[in-house]
Amino acid sequence: MIKKSTFLKLKLREASFITRGLLSSRHPVLAHLIPMRRCNLACGYCNEYDHSSSPIPLDVMKARIDKLASLGTSIITISGGEPMMHPELDEVIRHIRVCGMIAGLISNGYYFTPDRIRRLNQAGLEYLQISIDNVEPDEVSRKSLRVLEKKLRYLAEHADFHININSVIGGGIKNPQDALVVAKRAVELGFSSTVGVIHDGDGTLKPLSPKEKEIFQQVKKVGNKDHARLNWFQDSIAEGKPYNWRCRAGARYLYICEEGLVHWCSQQRGYPGIPLAEYSMDDFDREYNTEKWCAPTCTLQCVHQVGILDNWRDPQKSAAQIAKEQEQKEKLGQMVGAD
Ligand code: SF4
Ligand code: SF4
Repeated sequence: MIKKSTFLKLKLREASFITRGLLSSRHPVLAHLIPMRRCNLACGYCNEYDHSSSPIPLDVMKARIDKLASLGTSIITISGGEPMMHPELDEVIRHIRVCGMIAGLISNGYYFTPDRIRRLNQAGLEYLQISIDNVEPDEVSRKSLRVLEKKLRYLAEHADFHININSVIGGGIKNPQDALVVAKRAVELGFSSTVGVIHDGDGTLKPLSPKEKEIFQQVKKVGNKDHARLNWFQDSIAEGKPYNWRCRAGARYLYICEEGLVHWCSQQRGYPGIPLAEYSMDDFDREYNTEKWCAPTCTLQCVHQVGILDNWRDPQKSAAQIAKEQEQKEKLGQMVGAD
């Protein structure tokens, strides 16, 4: 369980990063960085893994972390694939801390042993999130409470970092009550717990069934109150209604794939698709100001939470509007040049 002193230090660092994020809108708050696409599992709903790719070399990862630090990034979360399969993950985490940023990790939990956890403590890991989809494994997901129980006990005993367990509801998950079982077990073990509302399998917005809604409310009560307060959007998604917010992906939130390209997020890869090494504050400003067409139905919790910092300022324009204004500026520039 995280030591009180580590917890207090982390909360102070978080508070200072939040204050900085509110005072200035011109730096990334959170970056997800992918050190390898490979995963040991094959969840039925996932489009973020393969079974063959190699880990990205440490020096390349360090250069990406340096670049994120130079942009003023506050938090880097290592994600995948399964990042615990990267042979130099500890060094990647250590480098994030050396650069003064908060270091987080998202994992499926399979590789945690007491020794591995102690090495992550030493490297300076601060946050871990594990998503657990069900109680018993099935053909869609093996991220299951029963399979991971021993790993969770190791973590409760040895980890000196904050641990959050995320359960899911909606999207045709067979047993919605599993989310409540997972959340209660997480709290028993001393972890925080959150719940994600997901879309139906075809990506359309459908309200949760009455049973799912009831369980959703119960899981929220069991879980992290701060998190529940920050996730108003989930209430709209649960009702099958679009949610009005400003997604700052590509600016305040960055998703860096294994090839080192910046994307809006895991679900919108390809936009803007610019190498991180070349990413400039012009790119940042363009994406900060661009309205995302996918925002009303988006369920990505971390991007929503980052968006809260700026929801009250700087209205966005559609990509078409921005392109038109850019074209007008260029035309004007050419006319002035010709004159
Ligand atoms: S464990 Fe995570 S990355 Fe791996 S297949 Fe499942 S959802 Fe995808
Ligand atoms: S709205 Fe959601 S899906 Fe769309 S770019 Fe932002 S985070 Fe990604």
